[in-house]
Order: sequence, then C-alpha cells, then structure tokens
Amino acid sequence: MGECEICGARLDCECRARIDGVVFSVCRSCAKMGQEIVISTVCRPRPKPARELVDDSSLVDSFGAMIKAEREKRGLSREQLAAAIGETASVIKRAEHGLQPGDKSVRKLEKLLGVRLLESATGFASSATEKRTPLTLGDVAEVRQRKRETC
Ligand SMILES: [Zn+2]
Repeated sequence: MGECEICGARLDCECRARIDGVVFSVCRSCAKMGQEIVISTVCRPRPKPARELVDDSSLVDSFGAMIKAEREKRGLSREQLAAAIGETASVIKRAEHGLQPGDKSVRKLEKLLGVRLLESATGFASSATEKRTPLTLGDVAEVRQRKRETC
C-alpha cells in the first residue's frame, strides 16, 4: 500500500483501475476516473508502524542500561569511560539516563565496550519507501496535473 499512482494521495484502501489500458493502484476518487475498476479490496485502516525512522540506524532502547552495565563490568567510573572516548563525564551520565550522545560518541562507545548500541532500521526504511514502478506514461502525468488543478 502506498500512494495513489494518479494523484499521489496516500492510500488507505487499495483500488485498481484501468486507465487508458494500464492498471494503476489508485485512491477511491481516482478509481472513478478509470474506465474499469479491476479490483476493489475491502478498505481497512492499516495500523501505523510503531515508529517511522528516517535514519539508517537508531539507538537501541536500552542503550543507557547497556552502557552502564558494560562500564560497571569493567569497573570504570563515568569519568574514566568519558576520558576513554574523549568526552566529559556528563555525556556518559546523560547517555546512561537514556539521552542520546552524539553519533561519534556512540560509535566510540560501541567500539570500546564491544556492544551494539545502534540497531539498523533498514527494515523500517525500506517498508517506508514506496515501491512503485516509475511513471513513464505521459497521460498519467497529465491526469495527475489535472487532479491537482481541480483540487
Ligand atoms: Zn488518486
């Protein structure tokens, strides 16, 4: 489910319409413009993903606890750990309380403590990006424009 291939509206239901011999995934109003509605699935609201991530990676939820645990395992004080990554103790303190330190600090901490603090969000990212065939048909562009103008 993505956006309407004609007007670009976000689809909360999926209809397919044949327009000029080509089948498009379209919104309901654009489906009416089609010569033939091929499939009209039951519209059901999709649960939104718990979070929408734009970055490639994000800190794991428990990164603060992980930093603390790893630091204590090594018998390091916050000051010592901070010094090891060239930061101040307050950065470590804040991190342990769940405040995200800068990317550089995170990577240094990962390396130093041997833990993964960043989780890849590639799965989220790819599901968020639209998978659709490029619009090469001039008539679609035309319809899109027309739709914009009438709106
Ligand atoms: Zn539409």
